[in-house]
Amino acid sequence: LIVGVPREVFVGEKRVATVPEVVEKLIKLGFGVLVESGAGALADLDDDAYRAAGAQIADSAAQLWAGADIIFKVRAPNDEEVAQLREGSTLVSFIWPAQNPELLQKLAAKKVTVLAIDALPRQLSRAQKMDALTSQAGVAGYRAVIEAANGFGRFFNGQITAAGKVPPAKVFIAGAGVAGLAAIGTAAGLGAVVRANDTRAEVADQVKSLGGEFVKVDYEEEGSGGGGYAKVMSEGFQQAQREMYAKQAREVDIIITTALIPGKPAPKLITAEMVKSMKPGSVIVDMAAEQGGNCELTVPGEAVVRHGVTIIGYTDLVSRLSRQSSTLYATNLFRLSEELCKTKDGQINVNFEDDAIRGLTVIKDGEITWPAPAPKLP
Ligand code: NAD
Repeated sequence: LIVGVPREVFVGEKRVATVPEVVEKLIKLGFGVLVESGAGALADLDDDAYRAAGAQIADSAAQLWAGADIIFKVRAPNDEEVAQLREGSTLVSFIWPAQNPELLQKLAAKKVTVLAIDALPRQLSRAQKMDALTSQAGVAGYRAVIEAANGFGRFFNGQITAAGKVPPAKVFIAGAGVAGLAAIGTAAGLGAVVRANDTRAEVADQVKSLGGEFVKVDYEEEGSGGGGYAKVMSEGFQQAQREMYAKQAREVDIIITTALIPGKPAPKLITAEMVKSMKPGSVIVDMAAEQGGNCELTVPGEAVVRHGVTIIGYTDLVSRLSRQSSTLYATNLFRLSEELCKTKDGQINVNFEDDAIRGLTVIKDGEITWPAPAPKLP
């Protein structure tokens, strides 16, 4: 079968669903690979690099969609792309079926099979190698720290120089999920003093192992809502948390917020008052900008200065590191391809006996199969 990789058309999207290193591996699994001309251009990958790895180049989107049996994509397809999907073909992409019921209907009408990489049962340890949500959030967390460092007027690490002693920057990370943990590791690696808070106390050890200090809210309430995700906290907890965050805001130089509860608007953790209390020249990176922001003064997609504090609300952190995020995403899809093609003969078997495959299959041969039953945990 031919794996086709179109150029992403979503405005501002710089990733591509495969990279030359992975093309070679897909060919070893028995697949042919067809890449649309220019597909990797925004991730520093030219057509020649794909050709050298053994891919064919399609001169146009039409040629690409017509020639592919399996489409690898990053962003969910738009109407024009759905129209070009061939009956009987397979699409592997981010889909977000809960948020996009209409898209699901349109795809089903095309009589295709759709594997939504975001629907992977992440709780299965076997699924980790295919977990693109994790790989991409890790990139975003890293990049958030780089953006913060770029907007900050001092070193991150403490230094003793002939010109005087420089104290390390203090960084506070709100939310220690995948993106938050990556941010903790990156900021600690740059030499900053790092503190972090999360409503799920279970992450405290991970924070410490990455070089951060876990700061607790002085209020007894468990924040885990099951499946590794958070729940909405009581008013009493939120009040105690606001007091602690207000204290951190006065003390630290950088705040990176990543707090997220699936399916809910982002919790507002950093108030305008807290921003006002920060030292001039401080930086906030609000990773939840797309879900409304964890900070009251965030402008999604922009960097603004309020009360002398730079507040960064970029929603394209992953695309700002497109070569890296593309490589990790392509590797996640390759790992999935290995599971689909155990026979290494370029054919795929969407095996519903396999919990990981069942979980991410949202449409099979035109029939909507989402949501999948919960996987059996070992
Ligand atoms: P995640 O679910 O792994 O982590 C979110 C964390 O926030 C969890 O640990 C949760 O317990 C914690 N949390 C929830 N409510 C909280 C509260 N009130 N106080 C403290 N902690 C709380 O999610 P993730 O994959 O790490 O993503 C984090 C954020 O980054 C999301 O908003 C996501 O959309 C965003 N993100 C942004 C980009 C970008 O380009 N800007 C890219 C990837 C992810």
